[in-house]
Amino acid sequence: MGLSFKSIWKYKCPRCRQGNMFAKPFKMSDPLDMPETCEVCHQKMLPEPGFYYGAMFISYILSGWFILIPTLVLVLVYDWSLYAGMGVALAIAAITYFRFLRGSRALWMHLMITYDPEAAVKGA
Ligand SMILES: [Zn+2]
Repeated sequence: MGLSFKSIWKYKCPRCRQGNMFAKPFKMSDPLDMPETCEVCHQKMLPEPGFYYGAMFISYILSGWFILIPTLVLVLVYDWSLYAGMGVALAIAAITYFRFLRGSRALWMHLMITYDPEAAVKGA
């Protein structure tokens, strides 16, 4: 069925694409608070210990490029000073921190677990 970017963006369960991957409401002190299982299809949100280790690499790669490219363009093309470029890099990192943190987990889980359109109906 392929990846659903809408499902990843909205942090939906990769199996049923209906349940939420993260506990609501969002808590700043615990941004990675996940329910034990999906409330719709009962997919385990931590299938095995260390499951989200790979998400760390996705987060690192995505946020690295997302911060590096605009900063390099400003410094090398528009002749911004290194300090201004660093300021922009920090601002981008601060703004996108939670999006990359959770988004990389969502993407990782969607890569590892296949979509089952009947999972929501079966409920198990
Ligand atoms: Zn589900």
